[in-house]
Amino acid sequence: MNKKIPILEIQDLNVSIKEVQILKNLNLIINKGEIHAIMGRNGSGKSTLSKVIAGHPAYNVLSGDILFNGKSILDIDPELRAHMGIFLAFQYPVEIPGVSNEDFLRLAYNSKSQYEGQEEINPIDFLNLVNDKLKIVNMNPSFLVRNVNEGFSGGEKKKNEILQMSLLNSHLSILDETDSGLDIDALKIISKGILHTLTDKEKSVILITHYQRLLDYVKPDFIHIMHQGTIVETGDATLAKKLELTGYNWLDNIKNN
Ligand code: ADP
Ligand code: MG
Repeated sequence: MNKKIPILEIQDLNVSIKEVQILKNLNLIINKGEIHAIMGRNGSGKSTLSKVIAGHPAYNVLSGDILFNGKSILDIDPELRAHMGIFLAFQYPVEIPGVSNEDFLRLAYNSKSQYEGQEEINPIDFLNLVNDKLKIVNMNPSFLVRNVNEGFSGGEKKKNEILQMSLLNSHLSILDETDSGLDIDALKIISKGILHTLTDKEKSVILITHYQRLLDYVKPDFIHIMHQGTIVETGDATLAKKLELTGYNWLDNIKNN
């Protein structure tokens, strides 16, 4: 085994939104090359955690720290965090009327290249690149000329997120319920897209999910259970199987204050 090198370290994180504290003393370490799943009831704070890592401005970090590659990112704006290699696939992908998917993807790609000191890709090379990526997620090229997510079905929006993830080649990808609402074929395609990204052994992924099915395809190294804004249990892949049997009721016996 390679030496473990942390890509993300969350230290005693406390976060509020609109004066309500959501995350409480949350600790989490993700090393390079690891797949982590986060599970937990609705409202336990999973999406809040993912948005705070990505730098969503609505959330207020009360105390604690988030380190990415060893450096605090709390003062870094979300665009820069994305350029540094943090990718968030939203639970509810947004539609962007008036902007074609192709333009959006090219802008995102070029803006990351610029940050990395590389030249802009020419549109023909970009089209070749994006067409390769489309194949990974079984998307038709016609999705490039449509406006971002506009009129896309739930499954198509999720595939589009994986397309972005694959194109941006980020070091840490956070997928917030990317598998929710997918039929079995779409789930396999999404899983294939995630695994494709992970062929680079340095890449890390956080999968937020309610379902064992995704974890059968993309096998996590660790599973964390969130409850009332913090991680209350961490285990290996068998923890998800246990949850399928027991549900979350045992969480109610955990005191978390
Ligand atoms: P999960 O993703 O685990 O279902 P969330 O992180 O979305 O949970 O939500 C955690 C808690 O934070 C919920 O009680 C939710 O109502 C609250 N919350 C999240 N965003 C906001 C917001 N913008 N305003 C008020 N409360 C919020
Ligand atoms: Mg959520």
